[in-house]
Amino acid sequence: MLKKLTKIVRLIDREAINLNALRNRSRIMTSYIRRRPRIRGFPVILHLEVTNKCNLKCKMCPRLHMKRDLGFMDFSLFRRIIDQARGKIDYVELYLFGEPLLHPQICEMIRYCKAAGMYVALSTNGIPLNESISRSLIDSHIDFLTISLDGITAATYSRIRGSINYGKVLSNVETFLRNRTSASPRHVVVQLIEMQDNAREIKRFTDYWTNRGIQVHLKPLMTWTGDVDAINMLSSYKSNTNAGSVLPCDRLWRHLSVFWDGTVVPCHYIYDKQCVLGDLNRQTISDVWGGSDFVEFRSRHIADARAAITCCSKCKVRSLHGWELLAASLVNTYTLRTINTVLHYN
Ligand code: SF4
Ligand code: SF4
Repeated sequence: MLKKLTKIVRLIDREAINLNALRNRSRIMTSYIRRRPRIRGFPVILHLEVTNKCNLKCKMCPRLHMKRDLGFMDFSLFRRIIDQARGKIDYVELYLFGEPLLHPQICEMIRYCKAAGMYVALSTNGIPLNESISRSLIDSHIDFLTISLDGITAATYSRIRGSINYGKVLSNVETFLRNRTSASPRHVVVQLIEMQDNAREIKRFTDYWTNRGIQVHLKPLMTWTGDVDAINMLSSYKSNTNAGSVLPCDRLWRHLSVFWDGTVVPCHYIYDKQCVLGDLNRQTISDVWGGSDFVEFRSRHIADARAAITCCSKCKVRSLHGWELLAASLVNTYTLRTINTVLHYN
């Protein structure tokens, strides 16, 4: 316990004490707790899908069931979004449903967000992480990098990720970790999504990476909007369910999720163009966030009508409550995420 506490104290980021951001988070949480669909304040977390193209076909990924077009976010659209978020949103994740390192300008995008004063997080499957991309990524001063592996043996890796490249990925990751500096990335985790296929390897996976001083993130399988049986079946445990919940979904008050083509959807679990709430090619973030479609969507959640909402009726994502809401108001998302990995997964 003392060891964990020491790690947590070291993780508390002094740059995180930003009064504007704190005020914004408090306003957002007040709106949520008071069940106000119209929000005073900006989203706390921005999810930008720089691309929905990918070099893998993982069995738990909703990409395989996605019907929308594939593409890369145009840098001018990206710049417009970040310019609007500058000074208001302090945490951005540059991925949703695709491999972000495939975007030819990804490191330029990270640097742009860093110059705008944001914490930047990325999740990669590690395949494009060659020597040259590794160097650029380290030089970009990204804050939080997740490397998803999901297994410790080539057989499990290939069963889950549909690729025979385990050796290559492992070598990419080992080289990247050797080259990283203490300043960049500030936080790296290797991730395993828990499912039946890898249930027997969790301890070996954890031991292997922790022995190398790398943080491990064991993530419960996400069933996204819950409408793909092939993904629901992979779960190794019974998830909490929102069915019948009286709590509106807090994601609608805190997160803004944008597809590569500028489409805004209610949250980062929605993988197709369902329940679309806006388009950042022709609207501003404020237009969408405070617009009638988003307000109406929150109102339906407040009225506990989620069972009647196509994209939410089967979703098993649990709403934040109690101390989690307090923590999300007081502490910035980057610090919360880093503390969360220490508390729950190591
Ligand atoms: S690497 Fe990520 S985005 Fe690509 S198929 Fe796998 S889970 Fe989906
Ligand atoms: S209930 Fe699920 S699908 Fe609906 S907004 Fe919340 S997290 Fe997204």
